Amino acid sequence: MDRIGRFAPSPTGRMHLGNVMCALLSWLDAKAGGGMWRLRIEDIDSQRCKREYALQIMDDLTWLGLEWDGEVVWQSQRGDIYEHYLGMLEEKGLTYFCGCSRADLLSSSAPHEADGRVVYAGTCRNKGLKEGAVRVRVPEGLQRHCGDFIVRRKDGAWAYQLAVVVDDGLMGVTDVVRGRDLLSSVPQQRFLFDLFGMECPFFHHIPLLCNAEGQRLCKRDKGLDMEVLRESFSAEEIIGRLGYLCGLTPEYMPMSANKLLPLFDWGLIRGESILIDDDKSQALSL
Ligand code: GLU
Repeated sequence: MDRIGRFAPSPTGRMHLGNVMCALLSWLDAKAGGGMWRLRIEDIDSQRCKREYALQIMDDLTWLGLEWDGEVVWQSQRGDIYEHYLGMLEEKGLTYFCGCSRADLLSSSAPHEADGRVVYAGTCRNKGLKEGAVRVRVPEGLQRHCGDFIVRRKDGAWAYQLAVVVDDGLMGVTDVVRGRDLLSSVPQQRFLFDLFGMECPFFHHIPLLCNAEGQRLCKRDKGLDMEVLRESFSAEEIIGRLGYLCGLTPEYMPMSANKLLPLFDWGLIRGESILIDDDKSQALSL
């Protein structure tokens, strides 16, 4: 089967170096396998996502030399499709409405083991409510992992888990590369792929780039967002530094993504989080 990879950013701001690393590794994985690399804009949260950010992400990817194949997929335009798949869950009798507030959820759920995730206690499972967020009933193993999870929010917005599975399935994605922060979503996603009768892709969860305090880089780490990086460095410098940081090259050398391609090997990719100073002047120097 031909490999199909994808990059699926949420357009809530400018990409930062961590997003770029994810895009780069997913591009390398797809291209090294002679496959296609698709771009999907995950803009289902209309309050947080902006079209201008999406266009900026596309411009940054092009500038970096990470060209995608085919049409861009916009989740905000796929409501009818998600509706269809939600219908499948409803027909199987697997969904119910949940009226819990955020406070209810926190008070009734146990923080999950080490990582602070909360497990939904199933408070509304048998209440027969007529409105609220839509949850899907999960079997025993997932009960302990996350509990019945939300597939559509109370305000009607589609939940990440449902949209991502439907899209990866329909786009024929064979290989997903994303940050390790999403590792805990795999059981929910496998469960939905099975219910929809879709092939589950192969998942690679990559180490996170962390700031000097050991926290995952986020939009607030201004010194490492693409606006600042593009002012200070060339695309080759950014790609070369990322190639070195994640373990693909033994030393730093500016290079294009195409040049890094023959060196790509999952066996070389570092397993642990990568610390990086978010001070602009040091961002790409070690
Ligand atoms: N849209 C998600 C994000 O930006 C990524 C989803 C995924 O790769 O499964 O964090």
